[in-house]
Amino acid sequence: MAELNGSPPAIELRRLTFAYPSGRKVLNDLSATWATGSRVAIVGPSGAGKSTLLMHLIGLLPTVPVSDGQHCAVWIDGAPVITERLRTVRQHVGFVFQDPDDQLFAATVAEDVAFGPKLLGCDATETQSRVTDSLTAVGLPLVGNLNPGHLSYGERKRVCLAGVLACQPKVLVLDEPSSNLDPRARRQLLKILRALPVTVIVATHDLDLVLDLCDRVVLLDEGRIQSEGVPTQILSDELLMERHGLEVPWRLRPTSTF
Ligand code: ADP
Repeated sequence: MAELNGSPPAIELRRLTFAYPSGRKVLNDLSATWATGSRVAIVGPSGAGKSTLLMHLIGLLPTVPVSDGQHCAVWIDGAPVITERLRTVRQHVGFVFQDPDDQLFAATVAEDVAFGPKLLGCDATETQSRVTDSLTAVGLPLVGNLNPGHLSYGERKRVCLAGVLACQPKVLVLDEPSSNLDPRARRQLLKILRALPVTVIVATHDLDLVLDLCDRVVLLDEGRIQSEGVPTQILSDELLMERHGLEVPWRLRPTSTF
């Protein structure tokens, strides 16, 4: 296992390959190592395999039989993501879906946020404390008694994040966190994410978010890692970006192209 500073990486992919039942390979031989505390962006054109990769990080698409754990392709904190460990994996890895309405289901915000801690076995006092802390962390300390359906889209996204934070994950996985947010809601989300002391993996088309939040970026296309590195380097490579259906963000373009 690759080790960084004596401890296992937050996430390690070992030749991850995956096809849906239709047969076409969606992920093809992905290998990567992401350190604890890093903030990694997965970028690429639609259909590149970003969401499929994220789903592997919480074991929604298991790749190997339990008995074959050593050959597992996805490792979190030095342990394989295999069916018999899914409960532990989901305690360590929190997943925020792209659409908050896929995640929220309870009659009140507080009940929704409390769902995860209760499932983890927290007692009433601990659950209440986690609900309060996580709603405060996302800047919504006063909405606990409201119906999620009465909040704005951006607020519902933050409630989803609170629900995941209430489980105190070590790794936070987000699918398109800034999509459909207005500029103020986007700024609020960015501020919250930057303050979190956890490993963050984010799939996004928002390349400014990558520049503002992440210290690494992985460019995925046709199910392969085409490039990985520091965001300013990868995202300013015009040829690379064009080849994979992306555009250099305005702020990285030479002034002569204005
Ligand atoms: P991205 O998130 O980069 O847009 P996805 O991971 O959603 O890419 O999809 C990658 C490919 O897998 C696409 O061609 C998509 O049509 C296909 N795909 C996604 N989900 C399924 C599924 N449940 N069954 C079959 N094919 C799927």
